[in-house]
Amino acid sequence: MNSSEIREKFLKFFESKGHSIVRSSSLIPGNDPTLLFTNSGMVQFKDVFLGQDKRNYTRATTAQRSVRAGGKHNDLENVGYTARHHTFFEMLGNFSFGDYFKRDAINYAWELLTVTYGLPKEKLTVTVYQEDDEAYNIWKDEIGVPAERIIRIGDNKGARYASDNFWQMADTGPCGPCSEIFYDHGAEIFGGPPGSPDENGDRFIEVWNLVFMQFNKDEQGVLHPLPKPCVDTGMGLERIAAVLQHVHSNYEIDTFQALIKAAARETGCADLNNNSLKVIADHIRCAGFLIVDGIIPGNEGRGYVLRRITRRALRHGHKLGQTKPFFFKLVADLVKEMGVAYPELAEAGERVAQVLKQEEERFGETLEHGMKILEAALAKDSKNLDGNTAFTLYDTYGFPLDLTADICRERNVVLDEAGFDAAMANQKQMARAAGKFKMNTAIEYNGEKSKFVGYEQLSYDSKVI
Ligand code: ATP
Ligand code: MG
Ligand code: MG
Ligand code: MG
Repeated sequence: MNSSEIREKFLKFFESKGHSIVRSSSLIPGNDPTLLFTNSGMVQFKDVFLGQDKRNYTRATTAQRSVRAGGKHNDLENVGYTARHHTFFEMLGNFSFGDYFKRDAINYAWELLTVTYGLPKEKLTVTVYQEDDEAYNIWKDEIGVPAERIIRIGDNKGARYASDNFWQMADTGPCGPCSEIFYDHGAEIFGGPPGSPDENGDRFIEVWNLVFMQFNKDEQGVLHPLPKPCVDTGMGLERIAAVLQHVHSNYEIDTFQALIKAAARETGCADLNNNSLKVIADHIRCAGFLIVDGIIPGNEGRGYVLRRITRRALRHGHKLGQTKPFFFKLVADLVKEMGVAYPELAEAGERVAQVLKQEEERFGETLEHGMKILEAALAKDSKNLDGNTAFTLYDTYGFPLDLTADICRERNVVLDEAGFDAAMANQKQMARAAGKFKMNTAIEYNGEKSKFVGYEQLSYDSKVI
């Protein structure tokens, strides 16, 4: 079953259960300052859950383009390191707005997985929220999952690597206990079941999260019950495609293989297993769709995330020996793979390529120079990179700090982030002093305004993963 068929089967299944098929919304959340990007299917329905918006349906199903490269859900640092994380992915979901609740949500998910998709039941393990006896009993008594494959999990608030069965869209907003379904890819792969010390291996992979949306969390962290309990589910298309295509890693599925081959063609890399190709394939999807939705590379906010992702991809191309613009050429391949499911991508294709080409031309030369400076610093000390060099790379050569950190991580080099922060603060102070000397008020205002918005975004992103 190819990815398109899997997507189609999902939507049709839920349509047959009375759900309206709703189109994916933009990656830029409409009117929601709490969120950098649409990170899941529920985002376009947030106000419906809160009871502030009404639709002419109470059941919906979507394939939602999602980005997790900033804010509460950020998987940028996982790309290239795990088999299951992307910055951009498609989330298949079904939603109930005060209509059905836990029982039907669980029954639908089980029927789709084991009947429509035909997965063997014994390969599936489920989790429920610690105190959720209701969900536990449905799984055990109604669905018949053996007790040893139903695991109770608490809320590991904010833990980077731990199952967490209390789902939140962001620090505030709709949330609730959830129940997740994991697929066991086999004993030959490292990893343990959810909740075990080895849960972050890639053996048991979470494919589907069923969220029982019950609360609205306010800024003080107080949970207010929603007008009506709702259901919000999310299944990563790439993860279920890996299962159904009998491969382990998401990067082995049809869509990714096509993009990896295209990246190999454009970089001249002969080894299709090269990690850099995976990163490039991931990043062209993310960068491409962000531009489709109106973002352009810039120095702050969303534009800076796009810039960071694009520059990371270019650095991986450089690592493979490609010093000329190449990334923009992958847009045509992306359109070929995803343009039917997302006509807005097909329409915007040329513009997307143009924007990327410009960014490549802008960064191309400084990338080359910056890499030389970095290599020279590492030739002197192969274990540490000092903050001043990282700052020079950032300030003069356009290396976002996370790009430098990515290189350091690859080579087991310790990056002096505190030194980078100090160099940044120092430069800011000098700029201020110079500004005051020349033209007091106007310059100060400028100084405040450009006070590292990009940098704050960067440090937020690179630390909150
Ligand atoms: P994980 O624990 O693997 O990081 P998650 O618990 O953060 O996943 P959810 O927020 O529950 O994920 O999202 C619902 C579903 O979306 C997941 O079950 C998974 O199938 C998919 N998904 C989440 N993050 C990613 C990602 N970065 N890349 C691809 N698919 C993802
Ligand atoms: Mg996650
Ligand atoms: Mg999880
Ligand atoms: Mg989850």
